[in-house]
Amino acid sequence: MSAPSGAGKTTLGRSLLEREAGLQHSISYTTRAMRSAEQDGVDYHFVSREDFQRMIDKGEFVEWARVHDNYYGTCLADIERLCSQGHDVLLDIDVQGAEQLRARGLDAVFIFIVPPDMEVLHQRLQKRDTDPPEVIATRVKNARQEMQQASRYDYIVINDKLDEAVQTMHAIIKAEHSRAQRVMPKVRRLGV
Ligand code: 5GP
Repeated sequence: MSAPSGAGKTTLGRSLLEREAGLQHSISYTTRAMRSAEQDGVDYHFVSREDFQRMIDKGEFVEWARVHDNYYGTCLADIERLCSQGHDVLLDIDVQGAEQLRARGLDAVFIFIVPPDMEVLHQRLQKRDTDPPEVIATRVKNARQEMQQASRYDYIVINDKLDEAVQTMHAIIKAEHSRAQRVMPKVRRLGV
């Protein structure tokens, strides 16, 4: 899933993980500084720029991108391990990362989260109270650019009321499990 900053993606992701027993979050690697409420190995694996570069060189990322002056990446081995354990894997990645996954042709479902309107997005960014006004202005500008990518996704979820958005995400996951191409291997095992 991708969303512009302030669309409520983190809260939505957390609620979804609580609701979906089979869903696991892939913990990304990042070079950004840890925020006070965050934990290393829980929210992100916080690594140095050098360690991140080493992982790029070794081809350990299935995708990586520079976002807001920091680097973020998804470790291929992590998602392979979770998938082999039978989990669905939730990736919280930016539009550049999603584009890389699309290019790789992975069996992935791309969901874009949007705020109900730009005013709500602005308010959510202000309420966070962590960023100065000029940073908020940049984030709103970036959000507009990122939202132009929404049509490249399989689904767009409007995050107006959290409960409804979580239900919609749940419905998408359910429906995707029933996609013929995913179920056919099971049908074939029935000897059809
Ligand atoms: P934040 O620093 O606020 O946690 O995240 C900033 C942005 O980085 C968000 O848009 C988030 O989706 C994106 N991001 C987080 N992890 C990854 C990742 O592993 N890969 C990519 N491409 N983007 C990520």
